[in-house]
Amino acid sequence: MSVLVLGSIALDTVKTPVEEHSDLLGGSASYAAVAASFFSPVKLVGVVGNDFPESEFDFWKSRKIDSEGVQRVNGKTFRWSGEYSWDLNTRETRSVALNVFEHFRPKLPESYRKTDFVLLANIAPALQTHVLQQMERPRFVVADTMDLWIETTRADLDTLLPGIDLLILNDSEAREMTKETSLIKAGRRIRKLGPSYVAIKKGEHGALLFGEDEFFSCGAYPLEDIHDPTGAGDTFAGGMAGYIAGTVGGKVTFTNLRKAMIYGSVLASFAVEAFSLDRLRNLSIDEINERYETFKLMSQFEVPV
Ligand code: AMP
Repeated sequence: MSVLVLGSIALDTVKTPVEEHSDLLGGSASYAAVAASFFSPVKLVGVVGNDFPESEFDFWKSRKIDSEGVQRVNGKTFRWSGEYSWDLNTRETRSVALNVFEHFRPKLPESYRKTDFVLLANIAPALQTHVLQQMERPRFVVADTMDLWIETTRADLDTLLPGIDLLILNDSEAREMTKETSLIKAGRRIRKLGPSYVAIKKGEHGALLFGEDEFFSCGAYPLEDIHDPTGAGDTFAGGMAGYIAGTVGGKVTFTNLRKAMIYGSVLASFAVEAFSLDRLRNLSIDEINERYETFKLMSQFEVPV
């Protein structure tokens, strides 16, 4: 089954302590759509300006990403610039220019409205709600968010939460949202705001998953070489949503979501190996499955003798 992906499509400038690159393809939807496309067809929703490379539309086509819902308008594409410190965990936003995003009110193509699975990747929660309202009873809705929305548009976020099934956010955001220091308490509290499931990402320390009476904790794939952490969270969300849409089909269960979380982590581990989407562009499903199996072996603590 297909997954509809809404989010930002951006041109990024990224500086790490060793390298700096500009005009890179980025944005939450760009990462999430490509990650999801390894498992299921994608219907992409976003907006770009006339400075956006036409070749990206060809790339999406080659990956079975439907771009009918991507508007090309007069003006400049959304731009974001960030700088990482030495540990590559902390990042400072250097600049953001909304550009064509400022007046973006997407009207979904008719062919998009019945899509069964939805990923509302990171973008203003009012836009996430606006798109969700145009969908006809999707089976499962995943949403991602960030500190900016918790701090500046909390009421919009609270409006969105009862309409979604899984919220994905990182540890500091979960603490900020609930004012809880314990992530366990934070996860449980967020469930009470609406979503049946909550996934809390802890960067290089893995992720937690909360269901009604269920709990799952996994590590992150240990990587020796990280070149650009940008988009790891979006890739994680895209991998999770794509896996659910493409392989689960019927009822989404906690058991499926556990696996989806590992696939999300595997995809994210590839994304950070190169700048922008470069590693995802030449990734194969065999490489993904191989890393998934390694992950499985690494996570066992009772090994058969
Ligand atoms: P992540 O590293 O997963 O947090 O995602 C980084 C991506 O998010 C970059 O490619 C940016 O273009 C995009 N981004 C940054 N700020 C925003 C924002 N306010 N809304 C939507 N996307 C954003």
